[in-house]
Amino acid sequence: MRLPRPEDIIQPILTHSDFFDLLPCFTKPKENELFTCWVYRMAHSHDLKVQTFFKVLFGNYNIWNRDIDRLVPDEIIHFLSKRNNIDYQKGLATTLKYYEGKLFPKLNFYGNSKWIMPYGIYHRKRFKYGMQFCPTCLNKDDTPYVRVYWRLSLLTFCGNCLKYLLNKCPKCNSPFVFFRQDVGYKNILEKSSIYNCFNCGIDLRNFSGEDVNPRTLELQSSLFLEVTKITSNSAYSKIGFFEVLHQFLAVLSSRYFRCVPVQKFMDKKFNVAYEPREGGIKNSFDFQTTEIRELRLNQAIWLLSNWPLNFLFVNKQIGNYRSHWIKDMHNPPSWFMKVFD
Ligand SMILES: [Zn+2]
Ligand SMILES: [Zn+2]
Repeated sequence: MRLPRPEDIIQPILTHSDFFDLLPCFTKPKENELFTCWVYRMAHSHDLKVQTFFKVLFGNYNIWNRDIDRLVPDEIIHFLSKRNNIDYQKGLATTLKYYEGKLFPKLNFYGNSKWIMPYGIYHRKRFKYGMQFCPTCLNKDDTPYVRVYWRLSLLTFCGNCLKYLLNKCPKCNSPFVFFRQDVGYKNILEKSSIYNCFNCGIDLRNFSGEDVNPRTLELQSSLFLEVTKITSNSAYSKIGFFEVLHQFLAVLSSRYFRCVPVQKFMDKKFNVAYEPREGGIKNSFDFQTTEIRELRLNQAIWLLSNWPLNFLFVNKQIGNYRSHWIKDMHNPPSWFMKVFD
């Protein structure tokens, strides 16, 4: 039996609030703004807590017990876009669903999706560090807001500020879950903004990520530019590149014994001691710490640089075969398959 999708549940509720065309206060999404942040600002512009705001519009439909940036029903995006006088594509671009066909073929509805850092949701509490943030960006913003690309595992630093992204409060180690601030406070004015840690209340803008390593900057700055321009161009598609990049990261992160030679070779090349990978879903690339993801990305991007020379050089050194590189890969792009001819 198919489990009901949020779309199935939300449809009857929408009719309750269908009597007005526009919300009393418009809130346009900012450049690359994340859906939950947009809704958070929308609710506060109406002097409502985000949960109350949703209840007024959508009844008892509870969005906060799931990763709503990933799973928001289309009807809600349509509804909020129309009521804020923006087109649907602009509303959609605040969600991780927008990356379908751009960063990955299809969003995985019931499990984890490539490139998306998991929240690890249990009721409304988040246990994993699935949301990164740049305190320097928040500090520079006239209206501080959360970027949609901070949820992506393929970014470890901010290419605008050249600082590593943080993923937890430096004081109390709580995850960055800004909308939890609305829980447990009767009056929203008692709490300030998204830049406060939801747990200890400290102003996260007072901190800063460390300066990015120059080697990382050299290898990954064009990746940052690519990712951040996706939401401004609905026709963007370099999905083949991102599929191969993710595959290389899987090979560099897997415990599969055939992948060990390339891992040892690349670790030596990047002057780090080889450590056996533990494999398993928990240890796949998207779940790793910032430090590990940074290293693996540097290695994978180096392999893709001067295509196909670096890749062929490594394969010649370690005698790796085509089957190791394309293991479990669906629809590899033709330019990648050509290298094995
Ligand atoms: Zn920044
Ligand atoms: Zn804190």
